[in-house]
Amino acid sequence: MTRVNLLGLDGAALTAFVAALDEKPFRARQLLRWIHQRGASRFDAMTDLAKSLRGKLADCAEVAAPAVLRDSTAADGTRKWLLDVGGGNAIETVFIPEPDRGTLCVSTQAGCAMGCAFCATGHQGFNRNLSTAEIVGQLWLAEHALRAGSGERAISNVVLMGMGEPLQNLDAVVPALRLMLDDDAYGLSRRRVTVSTSGLVRQMDKLAAQCPVALAVSLHAPNDELRDRLVPLNRKHPLRELLAACRRYLRAAPRDFITFEYVMLDGVNDSDAHARELVALVDDLPCKFNLIPFNPFPGTTLRRSSAQRIRDFARILMDAGFVTTTRRTRGDDIDAACGQLAGEVRDRTRRSASRLPSVVLAG
Ligand code: SAH
Ligand code: SF4
Repeated sequence: MTRVNLLGLDGAALTAFVAALDEKPFRARQLLRWIHQRGASRFDAMTDLAKSLRGKLADCAEVAAPAVLRDSTAADGTRKWLLDVGGGNAIETVFIPEPDRGTLCVSTQAGCAMGCAFCATGHQGFNRNLSTAEIVGQLWLAEHALRAGSGERAISNVVLMGMGEPLQNLDAVVPALRLMLDDDAYGLSRRRVTVSTSGLVRQMDKLAAQCPVALAVSLHAPNDELRDRLVPLNRKHPLRELLAACRRYLRAAPRDFITFEYVMLDGVNDSDAHARELVALVDDLPCKFNLIPFNPFPGTTLRRSSAQRIRDFARILMDAGFVTTTRRTRGDDIDAACGQLAGEVRDRTRRSASRLPSVVLAG
């Protein structure tokens, strides 16, 4: 019999699960607290559960996070876990400590099918969606590893900006988000959990209806001609559709704003003219900009914009009244920076093979 992995059950699913064991709903709440708040994985440690229930759980359930293959800490304190998700696939989770917050960057897929030109994960191709247990398992592992010793809560923010396109895996992502927000689990506020998407417009509507957390949209270009090249999904959902979806999203989450991510690529999308076009594009949409200096990875010919270019670009956006931040590159000595997460994914799409120079294929 395969055991049910309780890391993958949100409050409603866990309530249904305990009901099937003839138990009252408050047992589900107790289980949530044991598992997520206290990091327990053994049922015999859950001392306020009746012994008979502990026995039943031991027979049919488990609390199992992905196995840690590597655990590395960068000079700046950024910590990265490489996790085994079976079948030769590994994914990455990154913790970024800052004075006022601790952010965990979580993966949602092994690889990614979207094929963005500037992204290491995109170059690998796609293998599979992660399950809810694998997504929440990253938070569970990281929170309790970081807390060990201090006992203090370590993760204040979660961003779904690791490997993969979260909205392509919405069915597993939504229960994971619900657990992040659940007061008996991680108790994070809606604004401290961010989903980042390359622009799947229908799924943005679904997320708004099911769990409207903070939304970041990977824009990267101010016009369709350029965005078609950088983010292939744009050929299916051009900017007009994407911005309309952003406006609809904000109707579900009033008083919020969209964060537009914009990777700064030298000579590609980083001119003053691009910045002015961007200002005109987003117009009166409530939004902020987050400029991400491009992080190179093996095999790419793209380059990072200079620090001065990024400052000048940001100045145009700020002068137009948009809050604009430039992401500090963190953990690049352990390849943990944005877009450098590559795990080790067995590619089923063969996308990466088709993109490799022939000399590599021949070798
Ligand atoms: N698939 C989602 C979320 C994961 S990527 C998305 O695309 O939004 C998280 C962020 O890192 C995105 O904004 C993505 O565009 C950016 N990114 C990808 N590769 C990068 C690179 N090499 N350097 C800097 N940022 C990168
Ligand atoms: Fe996928 Fe995001 Fe990378 Fe694009 S940037 S390939 S959507 S992970």
